[in-house]
Amino acid sequence: MRLPGEVSLREVGPRDGLQNEPPVPTEAKIELIDALSKTGLCRIEAVSFVHPKAIPQMGDALEVWSRIARHPDVRYSALVPNLVGARRALDAGLTEIEVVVSASDTHNRANLNRTTEESLADLRPIIDLAHASGASCQVVVSTAWGCPYEGDVPVDRTLSVAQAAVDASADSLAYGDTTGMATPTRVEELVARTFERLPGVALTLHFHNTRGTGLANLLTALQMGVTDFDASVGGLGGCPYAPGASGNIATEEVVHMLQDMGVSTGVNLDLLLEVAARAERMVGHQVPSQVLRAGPRTRTVAG
Ligand code: ZN
Repeated sequence: MRLPGEVSLREVGPRDGLQNEPPVPTEAKIELIDALSKTGLCRIEAVSFVHPKAIPQMGDALEVWSRIARHPDVRYSALVPNLVGARRALDAGLTEIEVVVSASDTHNRANLNRTTEESLADLRPIIDLAHASGASCQVVVSTAWGCPYEGDVPVDRTLSVAQAAVDASADSLAYGDTTGMATPTRVEELVARTFERLPGVALTLHFHNTRGTGLANLLTALQMGVTDFDASVGGLGGCPYAPGASGNIATEEVVHMLQDMGVSTGVNLDLLLEVAARAERMVGHQVPSQVLRAGPRTRTVAG
């Protein structure tokens, strides 16, 4: 199996995870981010600058961002929905922002209250603003493989949104499998066609394990040379469209698998498992991570 020597994981539990959990106190979020910062993770999506009315769970973004202990080896970022959010994030001192746009028009309307075209028209001013502040901007194309309202999203549609992001000078691109509709063959097709159309593009993949295909999708992309992935500690965060279903792939499951396959993540699995246990206590219910339940593969039972 051809695999890269290392991958770069972006931990999205504090943002994507907690956004889909019942609200937790500001103090707990700060502790979670600080604990994650000490595990060897090199990137953390810490907060989201969305309107508190839209997502009350992120209403304390500014306070969280200003109070975390920023680790020198960690790159922190924030998700923004629009130009107003981008300005708030950049004013707060963020040097990396992610702006989200859905490949599916219906999902974009539901999520951002405007059409995909309207979101795309906003990309250039957001990216220009980020660059003028010395920050980088990633465009996250959500519902890249499918939409809970429209069903399958055609590859050409996702590609045209990706092309618009690159044309607007995005520093990098991410594809989000928002409701876990990707399978390995669909990952292979979209990634191959993306590299064909946008050679050299920096691509992050964001998989959900809603239907159990998360790690299979990641492995497929890894074999195609993708080395940037999102994951969420404990698998924090459910799926807003399927109550009770799991959401993001669990960071410790990714680290656990890759470590045994000789692919470095830089993450200390034992430390990460401690943080996953803490995250589970924090949200007050069992999180989906199976490695947290079973322990690492070399764990033996006491005789
Ligand atoms: Zn997610």
